[in-house]
Amino acid sequence: MGITTYVSDILEGLSSVWDAMVVGLQGYTDKPCTLEYPDEKVRLPARSRMQLFNRFEDCIGCSMCAMACPVDCIYIDTVKAPKADAMPEKYLGKTKDGKEKKLYVTKFDIDMAKCCYCNLCTFPCPTECLTMTPRFEASVMNRNDLVYHFSPMTKDEVERVNKAAEIEKHAAEAAKVAAAAAKAAAPKPAAPAPAAPVTPATPEPPK
Ligand code: SF4
Ligand code: SF4
Repeated sequence: MGITTYVSDILEGLSSVWDAMVVGLQGYTDKPCTLEYPDEKVRLPARSRMQLFNRFEDCIGCSMCAMACPVDCIYIDTVKAPKADAMPEKYLGKTKDGKEKKLYVTKFDIDMAKCCYCNLCTFPCPTECLTMTPRFEASVMNRNDLVYHFSPMTKDEVERVNKAAEIEKHAAEAAKVAAAAAKAAAPKPAAPAPAAPVTPATPEPPK
């Protein structure tokens, strides 16, 4: 190795160190590209699709959202509000835009683990109670916790309305059977008497 190569290697080494120092020093002047999460949060673009939310007090249980979902991850059970034993003060009444709630929504679950965030479920909602929220911090340790339950009805209340609806259904069926039996047993009206034959009038002879 000659003296020239020796000096050249030293200069190259010093140049590399200088380059590395420049890159390091740039970190003090450049705008940071990371966030100190969770103290800082990322600013999401408008209309970002994150977690679904159902403003349950305005849900009429029409199932339009579930029918639109391409992955079938919305599960809805409803019970037609029985006339007897209704709990209108709690779960029926009217929505914010004046629609009457005629069904008890005994179950409204969304499995966010299956959801593909397509947003197709929110468009057909007639009361606009199902929306995408910007909430993205939703990680959980147990996958079952990603099934969101929106119906506030307790197990006892669900049993109560199911029972009342069942009783009402049986009563309606019994009334229908009784009406059909009464109709069959009713005396039939007498058949009308045959009409007398009409004799054609004899034409008068020409004069
Ligand atoms: S965002 Fe798409 S996949 Fe998720 S629940 Fe709605 S329709 Fe289904
Ligand atoms: S479409 Fe809207 S109102 Fe109908 S069941 Fe779904 S969330 Fe409720």
